[in-house]
Amino acid sequence: MTDHGTSAERKMQFLFALRSRGVTDARTLAAMEKVDRGAFVRGIFSDRAYEDMPLPIACGQTISQPSVVGLMTQALLIEPRHRVLEVGTGSGYQAAILAQMARRVYTIDRHQRLVREAQAVFDRMELGNVTTFVADGSHGLPDQAPFDRIIVTAAAEDAPGPLLAQLKIDGIMVLPVGQSDTVQSLIRVRRLETGYDYEELRPVRFVPLVEGLAKED
Ligand code: SAH
Repeated sequence: MTDHGTSAERKMQFLFALRSRGVTDARTLAAMEKVDRGAFVRGIFSDRAYEDMPLPIACGQTISQPSVVGLMTQALLIEPRHRVLEVGTGSGYQAAILAQMARRVYTIDRHQRLVREAQAVFDRMELGNVTTFVADGSHGLPDQAPFDRIIVTAAAEDAPGPLLAQLKIDGIMVLPVGQSDTVQSLIRVRRLETGYDYEELRPVRFVPLVEGLAKED
């Protein structure tokens, strides 16, 4: 047996860590039980895929900490009929979890390489309800809008206006916002008939939302 125990034990520990950090929603836990994080982490860090920590991926980006993925997912209150937009595909892990819970997931990243690699994992997993895009996600996807839910997994100073505009009435967006790389808050925005309601959830730390497409990497 390795340091990490058998895969059944590893899975139990993974789910236990999620619950102990406040991920309690049954649909979120079921989705996270199903999606193997190991498929999204490559190279020297792959043996740490089941630990509750962020890990480096290609292009200087990170795959988020599983408990943060879980808390963001449950904060979205996703229903099976929903169409969800994710800004910041990264490894594809968050999108694969959303794909278990929603009708369709649109995910955007500014790094072509990350999108290509994530798409390859989605293909292997036969996730037919995820569509990937290489674009600057701060503009959203006007052609596919409006969305029931939007999740942003990179931090901006404020919620980007185009994303707010692409949310349905009664829709929910979860995103990290903050003035610096070190102090950010996870917030939940609900679109009402008359405006937007903002709720602060917890402090977090994400890579920044960067304007424009990345240069070819
Ligand atoms: N959700 C990912 C983690 C994302 S890390 C996962 O599950 O692995 C943040 C990602 O946001 C990075 O891949 C980065 O390239 C992307 N990003 C940053 N600014 C962006 C922008 N303006 N448009 C699209 N993607 C962006």
